[in-house]
Amino acid sequence: MVFPARIVLATRNQKKRVELQRILTTHSIGCEVLTLADFPGYVDDVVEDAPDFEGNAILKARSAFSATGVPAVADDSGLCVDALNGMPGIFSARWSGTGDDQRNLELVLAQIRDVPSARRSAAFVAAVAFVDADDCVVVRGEMSGHLVREPRGSDGFGYDPIFVALGQQLTNAELAPEVKDDLSHRGQALRSLVEALAHRGVAN
Ligand code: IMP
Repeated sequence: MVFPARIVLATRNQKKRVELQRILTTHSIGCEVLTLADFPGYVDDVVEDAPDFEGNAILKARSAFSATGVPAVADDSGLCVDALNGMPGIFSARWSGTGDDQRNLELVLAQIRDVPSARRSAAFVAAVAFVDADDCVVVRGEMSGHLVREPRGSDGFGYDPIFVALGQQLTNAELAPEVKDDLSHRGQALRSLVEALAHRGVAN
């Protein structure tokens, strides 16, 4: 398999496109990253009903590849809280029944209100899938840490204001974005994917 000249990232989020493009450039891989925004006719009707991050990432990548004919990369991510048996996990984006980040975060905080500091461990998890006509590759990245009692910071999104990564004092929402990028589950998974493809004899 030769590294494709173009891939489509199954998102409309330009920040995710820039992140993947930067990682490819770091690996000296000259590959243009498109997003679904480059395919105006694409209808996003993927039902994310797999039982895990990997399955949902594959569903999204398969859909993007079959609709565009361009080798596709997709991610699926979430926050897994140990005291909640790994929830919200794949349900992170709509944990409160809405897509509202603030309400989702407040619900998690309320659910672990009585959990002592020593048992507030959690991890952000991301699976990233690559699908083309010949291959399906899926990898995972994790960022371990713990949840604080009060939200802090204004950068980032989602559960970032209540999450402190292992070895950090600041929440993800207080960290400089490039520091979070370096540590992040999604960054780790994307780097693993690029390396996995490279180790399969992929060259630019
Ligand atoms: P998606 O996979 O991009 O749809 O993200 C799923 C959900 O997980 C998001 O809506 C957030 O609630 C949460 N999430 C995933 N990654 C992060 C992160 O880096 N920071 C904060 N929340 C995140």
